[in-house]
Amino acid sequence: MAIVLPYFLAGLLLGCLLVGLAAARVLRRWHQAAADLESQLRSHSFELQIALDELTEANRQLEIQTQIDALSGVYNRAYFDRQLTAELKRSRREQRTVALVLLDIDHFKQINDNHGHLVGDQAIKQVAQLIRQHVKRPADKVFRYGGEEFALILPNTSLAGAVQLAERIRQQLTATCINTADDTLTLSLSAGCYAAIPAKDSDNDEFIAFADKALYRAKAAGRDQVHSYPAPVAAVAVAAAAVTGEINEH
Ligand code: GH3
Ligand code: MG
Ligand code: MG
Repeated sequence: MAIVLPYFLAGLLLGCLLVGLAAARVLRRWHQAAADLESQLRSHSFELQIALDELTEANRQLEIQTQIDALSGVYNRAYFDRQLTAELKRSRREQRTVALVLLDIDHFKQINDNHGHLVGDQAIKQVAQLIRQHVKRPADKVFRYGGEEFALILPNTSLAGAVQLAERIRQQLTATCINTADDTLTLSLSAGCYAAIPAKDSDNDEFIAFADKALYRAKAAGRDQVHSYPAPVAAVAVAAAAVTGEINEH
């Protein structure tokens, strides 16, 4: 028994050593497998993040596309409605004046009638670009409001500021030759401006109605001019004087 015991103990030790080695190898493999898995996960989540970023960018581009008018390249009517509502809310909250300008190309029907619809389309596109060139403040936005009508939303802008900008655009258009495939055209536009700190019950309709009133006056007064609502005191006095006969036409 005494002779066998050392062999037995040596065998036991060897056995333990082998089991330990095998266990260590298994543990190393598990460790490696876990590390591989973690690295795969990291690479997958990286790819996933790239895909997510691409998707976010694609959504952003799509969102921009839905805001843009395909012909003119400026913002469209649907975006105008949303943007005006948002701007009125913000301006009321901040108690700032917001201005709305409506611009309408004069006698545009004649352009279509005389030169065709395609030339008309080219003219609308070029007028939009001309307007855009004059609207420089980042917060200001240009919209195609209707067929040959444009709108400007000018946050934090007084009526005088809006009239000044509209007047610059008007003058530039009359001084510009619009080149189309068919001909070189000279166009003019009329504009109506309204500006106010929105009241509690102010809405899009109110702003559009007042700017439209001013536009209507610009058309009625002979076109190719900028009017505001309310009309400047001097203009009101002149109009009243004309009605009462105080001013004679020469
Ligand atoms: P006014 O000076 O009173 O504004 O006269 P106008 O002829 O410009 O006004 P009106 O509103 O009577 O006519 C606008 C014309 O614009 C009618 C339509 O033929 C034309 N129009 C509207 N949308 C488009 C468009 O997308 N392309 C083209 N080519 N013409 C359009
Ligand atoms: Mg019109
Ligand atoms: Mg018109």
